[in-house]
Amino acid sequence: MTRQQQRHLHLGLCASALGVAALLAACAARPPAPHAPLAAARPGTLQACTDLATRAALPGTVYTSVTDVPAGTVTVGGVAMAAPAHCLVQGRMNERTSPVDNQRYAVGFEMRLPVAWNGRFFYQANGGLDGVVLPALGGIGGGGPRSSALQMGFAVISSDAGHAGSMGPRFGLDPQARLDYGYNAVAQLTPMAKNLISKAYGRGPDRSYFGGCSNGGRHAMVAAVRSAQQYDGILAGDPGFNLPKAAVAQLYGAQQYAAVASAKTPAGQPDLQSAFTPAELKLVADKVLARCDALDGLADGIVSNVRACRTRFDIQRDVPTCAAGTRDGMCLSAPQKNALANVFKGARNSAGQPLYSSFPFDAGVSGSNWREWKFASPPTRDAGAVAFIFSTPPLADRPQGLPFALGFDMDRDAPRIAATDGVFRESALSFMTPPDAANLSALRDRGGRMIVYHGTSDPVFSSDDTAAWYERVQAANGSDASAFARYFPVPGMNHCSGGPATDQFDMLRALVDWVEQGKAPASVTASARGAGTPVPNAEVPANWSPQRTRPLCPYPQVATYTGGDTERASSFACRPPSP
Ligand code: CA
Repeated sequence: MTRQQQRHLHLGLCASALGVAALLAACAARPPAPHAPLAAARPGTLQACTDLATRAALPGTVYTSVTDVPAGTVTVGGVAMAAPAHCLVQGRMNERTSPVDNQRYAVGFEMRLPVAWNGRFFYQANGGLDGVVLPALGGIGGGGPRSSALQMGFAVISSDAGHAGSMGPRFGLDPQARLDYGYNAVAQLTPMAKNLISKAYGRGPDRSYFGGCSNGGRHAMVAAVRSAQQYDGILAGDPGFNLPKAAVAQLYGAQQYAAVASAKTPAGQPDLQSAFTPAELKLVADKVLARCDALDGLADGIVSNVRACRTRFDIQRDVPTCAAGTRDGMCLSAPQKNALANVFKGARNSAGQPLYSSFPFDAGVSGSNWREWKFASPPTRDAGAVAFIFSTPPLADRPQGLPFALGFDMDRDAPRIAATDGVFRESALSFMTPPDAANLSALRDRGGRMIVYHGTSDPVFSSDDTAAWYERVQAANGSDASAFARYFPVPGMNHCSGGPATDQFDMLRALVDWVEQGKAPASVTASARGAGTPVPNAEVPANWSPQRTRPLCPYPQVATYTGGDTERASSFACRPPSP
């Protein structure tokens, strides 16, 4: 029986047993039954490589390099990662000259096809503004050294999403490049990649997966809705699925920090880094821990019950207020408290209307990645993205950098992310965000599965936004979507990795087991990267075991201490949160 038939049967039985009036209330509220797992992928062997340029020829696609790569290592971000023998195909699609800005554009890509293939395809969605074809290894989530999708035998694609990184955010002056970045590169590359796979292995992929973090998590959330027919499993990490709104919120944050900055840059501008010293943010983290750490049963430097912490921690009450003119790291001034409270409450316009999302107070506020995103990024990454990519029309004539961030008007300018005009016919909110984000019915009904994870100390994309999204997905599925979509908060983790957290985990294997074996992930074990581990995370507290493990629990469950060794995941269970 197909899933659709199952639903019809369910509704039919309900309709016969109840009056029509009671039908919607009683039956529509029922959660969907879990779909049977999809057939497991079968392994295969690479049959062709160097002649793929001819064998896989497609109109609009140019293969610039096709080579056999022996087993060895591929270095990404300074970290050498093992790679099995594979075929490396590089190329570009849809090369063109923009009639708007006269620049050359193409969707650049590379694909790595392992000789020993596991029968699966993995779309590696990259972060930031894209623009770089990162090595197609396939991330599995979290930080540190780990296996990759390529090592696991997936055929992996990576792309620049339609523009060169050398353009910075200026690709946003071309309307088509905006759409390619938003969703169209994925739509173009997916069938091209599947064709390449079928020519390389003699058959197409049995199962297809899509994964990424940050903007890559956004791509994944978009693909879950727009490309549901093309993918069986979606892995979205720290997803910026409301990226234009989050970027506006970053500019709002810059304005808050500028108001309390104690120093100026050499150019005479407020130095955002001076708004809060590392000691002051460590103080905030300690006060959060004092209120919230033990809510999960153990004071261990990890706040697992984020929801309860919302009402327990009060920055105004719990952080000492400095006497006028005294900032010694043991207090915050009243204006500092207000600035931080505003940022965590979420960006607002002058009428008090929210422009993005709140953020949860958490121990990871002391992380270096938190500082980087909050203080360094707004005048650079966020200002450029809002000016050139997300505003319609682009705000290209304004002074850029910090002056742009500080001059951005939350009343008159913020609505530009929803605007269109004769040249830019889709707004940033349309091309960047998943249409009807909580409607995953297409993915659900074909037996697809989705795993989302998000650091609760992510400084740029809020885990509150992801929790709210997941609650909407729950509501759209009779209050329980866990049969096909699960969200795993990662306590303390900053943006995609780092912070005082167990930030090393393998979500991809969990996803494959769920899709193909029907093993729903009741929890995912994460480990810390303390001193002495292969790629240490300096922010793992010294009083943790360097390889502390914890279960990551599906929202709204919380990793609750049940007794035993406090450094081991086995001493915790995923439980409904205490209020
Ligand atoms: Ca705790």
